[in-house]
Amino acid sequence: MNEVSPSPAHLEARATSSGSPRPGGRLRADLHSHTRWSADCLTSAEVVIESCLRRGITCLAVTDHNQIGGAWEVAAQAPFKVIVGEEVKTREGEIIGLFLKELIPPRLTPEETTARIREQGGLVVIPHPFDRLRRSRLQAKAIERLVDQIDVIEVYNARIHLGADRRRAAAFAQAHHLAESAGSDAHTPFEFAGAYVEMPDFDSPAEFLAALRVGTIHGRPVTPLVHFITKYMKYRKKYLKYLQRLTRPRAPVG
Ligand SMILES: [Zn+2]
Repeated sequence: MNEVSPSPAHLEARATSSGSPRPGGRLRADLHSHTRWSADCLTSAEVVIESCLRRGITCLAVTDHNQIGGAWEVAAQAPFKVIVGEEVKTREGEIIGLFLKELIPPRLTPEETTARIREQGGLVVIPHPFDRLRRSRLQAKAIERLVDQIDVIEVYNARIHLGADRRRAAAFAQAHHLAESAGSDAHTPFEFAGAYVEMPDFDSPAEFLAALRVGTIHGRPVTPLVHFITKYMKYRKKYLKYLQRLTRPRAPVG
């Protein structure tokens, strides 16, 4: 799969294209994103959809942290293809399940998590593998152990800032003949389409995998400041919850 940086013409196309599939039935698929159902994100389903339409995204995987409701919300309203996913925190780091029907609880072992994804017909994606700046990455020894259970390696995450880590992910995918994906990992509206795959349309997880293998990856890293914004949103949400608890009327005593 080729890695291509968007040209100015590309950016122009991004600004003007509509939400319908591109000519020739090719999708512009952002395969990693978050909504306000994630503890570190405030974006509503409506804003997710509007941001994608503005940037010409015609297929979006919604992959909230340990939640699936945001993906259902976007899927119910979006005029483009939506893949219901979840970025599940396991005991050894994060794993994404795509094409899910049910929520997968966090803090299972990586083996239990991948088994649960596969039981419901989903695909196992390893997000941001080898990203040295991210503590939540799946540990390298778990990736090696699970390699037969992995369907897709995310080789371009717009929130990865070290090119060497992206190259290591691509080399691993190629060495193990795994499909390669890309996603913005958007936690704010302006991040959508930061990375995406241009690929043929599909109707099933198997067709999706085949389409990914002939897709083209596009991306450009977003400013590292987004990590501070995410942290800020997480603490803001926690603080608002704390305030709600403080101001909640108490049941009368006696
Ligand atoms: Zn993510």
